[in-house]
Amino acid sequence: AKQTHRGSYVLFNEDHGNQIDRQFRLERALKLSIESDELLCYFQPQYDCNSERIVGFETLARWKNAEFGMIPPSQFIPMAEKSGFIKELGRHVMECTFAFAKSMEGRGLTVSFNASPMELLEVNYIDYLISRYRFYGLSPNSIAIEITESSLMESLEKITSKLQILKKQGIQIYLDDFGTGFSSLTYLKTLPIDAIKIDKSFIDEIVTKDVEKDIVLMIVGLARRLNMEVIAEGVETEEQLNCVTRAGCHLIQGYFISRPICQSEVLPLLGQPKKQ
Ligand code: C2E
Ligand code: CA
Ligand code: CA
Ligand code: CA
Repeated sequence: AKQTHRGSYVLFNEDHGNQIDRQFRLERALKLSIESDELLCYFQPQYDCNSERIVGFETLARWKNAEFGMIPPSQFIPMAEKSGFIKELGRHVMECTFAFAKSMEGRGLTVSFNASPMELLEVNYIDYLISRYRFYGLSPNSIAIEITESSLMESLEKITSKLQILKKQGIQIYLDDFGTGFSSLTYLKTLPIDAIKIDKSFIDEIVTKDVEKDIVLMIVGLARRLNMEVIAEGVETEEQLNCVTRAGCHLIQGYFISRPICQSEVLPLLGQPKKQ
């Protein structure tokens, strides 16, 4: 702390100052990340245990900065949301997703990407999305948008009609991080959802805890009733995979199948496209 001329102390120390400075420089660097080619998209496979093949990918943003190194999305996404940069970031990720899906055409894959609540509520977002989707000439079911329950809290009616527009275009809707938010059942009833993604926190303890097992069973049963798919997130071990499939969920995303990979690693993983 620094002593002022009147002898009292102000709440300031160097550590705190450095923190603020770092945050400031980080935010400035983030705003330059797209033009300096630092903001990349990785793709994590989604695997169908029934057909024993990869059926889709989730696009995940990666930021590799020269000064700060790898910054995790858990850090830069909230930063981008706060500064408003999420709009550019989201459009960049959307573009990567569509280009990737186009390059994978004919393989029957669905590529999903995450949309922040803030983006979804933006007036021009849906029109922009559809115009880019049409620009790429993507076929129905080749794209899915992942939304979180928190994004729905505010205006369920508005979001519902927006999502219905997307569905009419052939874009799928995934409900992300299911089970971590509030009053999920209302959303399931109201929104045009194609698939529910069970949050990793349930999968983490599914092998050892009966409660987690029961929750997954319940979600799978509910989804089946509502004609929705279920994707289990964060499956890391064979034991978890066995528990999840025994509960009736055959769509898997997690390190046990693969970590998120860059585009050049995708083709070797998929192999040659199957002849129809
Ligand atoms: P999410 O949408 O729930 O994405 C899944 C996260 O779980 C990813 O973390 C993924 O790498 C991680 N994951 C997948 N399987 C496993 C596993 O088996 N074990 C473990 N430990 N982790 C696994 P990531 O890439 O760090 O992203 C974190 C979050 O940041 C995402 O959570 C999403 O909410 C957000 N995010 C990432 N990219 C974007 C983006 O382009 N736009 C927006 N709005 N948010 C994004
Ligand atoms: Ca997601
Ligand atoms: Ca998730
Ligand atoms: Ca998450």
